Amino acid sequence: MRLAAEAAIAYRLGVPDRPVPPACDLDTAVARFRTPLAEAGIPAAEVIETLVHETDDGLNQMTSPGFYGYVLGGSHPVGVAADMLVSAWGQNAGSSAETPAVTGLERAVCDWVIDLLGLPPESGAGITTGATVGNTAAILAARNALCARAGWDVEARGLFGAPGIAVIMGADAHSAPSAALRYAGFGTERTLLADTDDQGRIRPESFERCLASVDGPVLVVLQAGQINSGASDPFAELIPMARARDAWVHVDGAFGLWLAAVPELAPRLAGVQEADSWAVDLHKWLNAPFDAGMAIVRDRTALVASMSARGAYLPDLTGHWEPTDSVPELSRRARGVPSYAILRHLGRAGVREMVARHCALAKGIAAEISDLPGLSVLNEVASNQVAIRCGEDAEGDAQTREVLRQVQRRGRVYPSHGTWQGRDIIRVSVIGYATQKAHADLLVSEIAEAWQIVRGGN
Ligand SMILES: *Cc1c(COP(=O)(O)O)cnc(C)c1O
Repeated sequence: MRLAAEAAIAYRLGVPDRPVPPACDLDTAVARFRTPLAEAGIPAAEVIETLVHETDDGLNQMTSPGFYGYVLGGSHPVGVAADMLVSAWGQNAGSSAETPAVTGLERAVCDWVIDLLGLPPESGAGITTGATVGNTAAILAARNALCARAGWDVEARGLFGAPGIAVIMGADAHSAPSAALRYAGFGTERTLLADTDDQGRIRPESFERCLASVDGPVLVVLQAGQINSGASDPFAELIPMARARDAWVHVDGAFGLWLAAVPELAPRLAGVQEADSWAVDLHKWLNAPFDAGMAIVRDRTALVASMSARGAYLPDLTGHWEPTDSVPELSRRARGVPSYAILRHLGRAGVREMVARHCALAKGIAAEISDLPGLSVLNEVASNQVAIRCGEDAEGDAQTREVLRQVQRRGRVYPSHGTWQGRDIIRVSVIGYATQKAHADLLVSEIAEAWQIVRGGN
């Protein structure tokens, strides 16, 4: 354990000076590790040393302040330190009676996040592995509640013969809530896709038409934070329409919901607190180490009814409920504890500062890129995401991909690829806890230099 802790610290100290992407390819890594399991074991220290040395060229420096790929947090060191304790403690977090300290810490995380995000304090919450499972748990709660309203006990009778539930979602939604809908037995063809505008936000007129076109119970899935544009659906317009129709409104806010923690940015999510359920990640904008996210459900009995391993039996929920009653797993890691450490360390002010800084840096990156000839930004920067396009339309896709390839290969910064409105983009997500102005400047100069080379054709 001491060896591993020392190696972990040395790794993190070295990250800012390392090329961001891995140097070795997948086949090499697989060939290195995927050997027959030997009959005889080897000493523990040797295992750890081997792990450290043989992974060295095969890791992507996702914790680097130069990493802008996908929408990934940078595993804040105080969270990583707490995660080491979590592993050492070896607690099964599923049972409050057996591990009261862990349950206390995780309840604090649920309270604090609900409060920071301005969501209803009476909500029930479960700490999941991420927003995919957060969306799934919340959609299962919605399914339970909508069926119950229609007089159908879905936990006892299942979906065969159940009342049909219509689903409405935006055309630019993330794939995760679609997966959640599949996991929940809704299939894909049931979903009506409402039209979206040039920022990926649902158009209220189209949403209204969708609502008017369906009968019976309705599940609406909205989004805070589109992965390419960072924009959010117009909750204040959409949710009252859905309410009038008695629909359940779920919001996928994997990263975007964190805007609510910053008073100046919260108006971009106006009305979001009127929904019935929300999914949010802790391992994205809060920079918790993987895996951590949350399902938050206003009517906690709906969440418990759908998640409790005890099935139809509903425990007394006044002030007390078991961790296993709000997530799919029975036995699980104390996965909320790293977020407790990060929230304690940052405080409210630190969370606000981090989210606001990322949004300001994204705005600055967009302004500087837009000033460079031949480069453009396709989104209004509504949060921390910047969609960068190189060249004119005819050759733009190939040029954008080539600029990205060169930037990634140089390895000083690492944005990733996206497709936005049928066009290739370099997608920049400013989300690492350590990312500051100097790093953002380096990102702009790396893209500018690669563009010079691609445009010059040499
Ligand atoms: C990342 C993301 C998800 C999925 O979250 P995971 O934590 O990767 O499971 C869902 N929705 C949006 C908008 C996201 O950005």
